[in-house]
Amino acid sequence: MQWETVIGLEIHTQLATHSKIFSGSSTAFGAEPNTQANLVDLGMPGVLPVLNRKAVEYAVRFGRAIDAHVAERSVFARKNYFYPDLPKGYQISQFELPIVGKGCVEIVLEDGEVKTVGVTRAHLEEDAGKSLHEDFHGMTGIDLNRAGTPLLEIVSEPDMRSAREAIAYARKIHQIVTYLGICDGNMQEGSFRCDANVSVRPKGQAEFGTRAELKNINSFRFLERAINYEVERQIELIEDGGKVVQETRLYDANRDETRSMRSKEEANDYRYFPDPDLLPVVIDQAFMDAVSADMPELPDARRTRFQEAFGLSAYDANGLTATRATADYFEAVSAATGDAKLAANWVMGELAAALNKEGLEIERSPVDAAALAGLLLRIRDNTISGKIAKQVFEAMWSGQGSADELIEAKGLKQITDSGAIEALVDEVLAANPEQVENYRNADPAKRPKMIGFFVGQVMKKSQGKANPQQVNELLRGKLD
Ligand code: ADP
Ligand code: MG
Repeated sequence: MQWETVIGLEIHTQLATHSKIFSGSSTAFGAEPNTQANLVDLGMPGVLPVLNRKAVEYAVRFGRAIDAHVAERSVFARKNYFYPDLPKGYQISQFELPIVGKGCVEIVLEDGEVKTVGVTRAHLEEDAGKSLHEDFHGMTGIDLNRAGTPLLEIVSEPDMRSAREAIAYARKIHQIVTYLGICDGNMQEGSFRCDANVSVRPKGQAEFGTRAELKNINSFRFLERAINYEVERQIELIEDGGKVVQETRLYDANRDETRSMRSKEEANDYRYFPDPDLLPVVIDQAFMDAVSADMPELPDARRTRFQEAFGLSAYDANGLTATRATADYFEAVSAATGDAKLAANWVMGELAAALNKEGLEIERSPVDAAALAGLLLRIRDNTISGKIAKQVFEAMWSGQGSADELIEAKGLKQITDSGAIEALVDEVLAANPEQVENYRNADPAKRPKMIGFFVGQVMKKSQGKANPQQVNELLRGKLD
């Protein structure tokens, strides 16, 4: 039997507002437990929620970015359930009338094929608090700092057909919300959380199979693993004559497996009803226009611009726009050096390798854009060769100073004095009469390759400092 996988994702993005969605408490991460929860967040009787305008603006920004219908009128609803980290006994969310309706995003698959994934809706809601199970010996601690943090829940159509496609989609949403500046995208801190709905069906069957919802996934790598594990589990279960039940399953990264957490509630279990404490959200044309006028450049547009304006390859443009921080870094280096190709080579090459090696994001790079530009300018004006530049870069990386300071201190200035280079060339030729003989007797077509030996010798003698182009020219003049 051939099986087909069907996946739909629900992504909770924490909106990067300073205060909460219905109260003035701070949303900053990492504070002492329960120091950032006020009476509204605690669900005290008699207090009233007041909607954060910025959260609405961010939701609309997202709607614009995915070509979605933005509702002129949306409604907050109470989603009722009991849990210790939800003091009100209900979560304020949106149900029948979400702020963002149907939209779509494009993902690029490994073979380069472009696939469109539908977004069903995106709605505003408040986050719950956190239950802390460690450190409390048989008890549970409750931290309500996160209660009331604004979330935009982005629900996809069940359009993905493999874990790979699901990852590509999740990365794309991550890229869009971080480019938009509406979410910091930090998965470790829970600012970007993915739940995956997974089902399988016999290939060719029109109806979907029963799905399980996977929760507790905090990296793209785990998302892929969790889905793959779940697909295998469901296929085995069905092939052994069993049935998939609709339920919520928890992904355990340590054991790389999913475990049943609870049977899935139906929407009507939540007794949704419009929240009488909040007015419907009405978005007028002026608000829409203001958001539209303020839209940052999106990743696809920036990639195309990089190709067209800087003559970069699709591969380079893709890599350089992978994150907004990378694109900003590259553009700063490119502008400061006036050499986009050189900037692209270094950001994608030496810098990316160094970041990768230490597992650092570009935002934390010890060599910032201005510092790298300072180095590349010295290649541009022939003060140093590209090879020496790599040496200088390493020293800059370990905090030993700026490019100019290091070139000066280590005496790395390139030798461009042709008299000095000629002296070195003569020494090398005199020391290698046999190779000179061979060269001169060789087929001229083979000579360009053979000259490499002499270039290498001269460079070595100069400790890498001779200008390679001048060395080549002088050698050719003397040998030919
Ligand atoms: P709920 O509100 O119970 O979570 P929804 O109908 O809103 O359910 O769907 C949630 C997610 O599940 C959506 O992303 C949707 O695409 C996905 N989904 C729905 N049915 C299936 C299925 N049979 N297999 C995989 N994903 C599914
Ligand atoms: Mg759901």
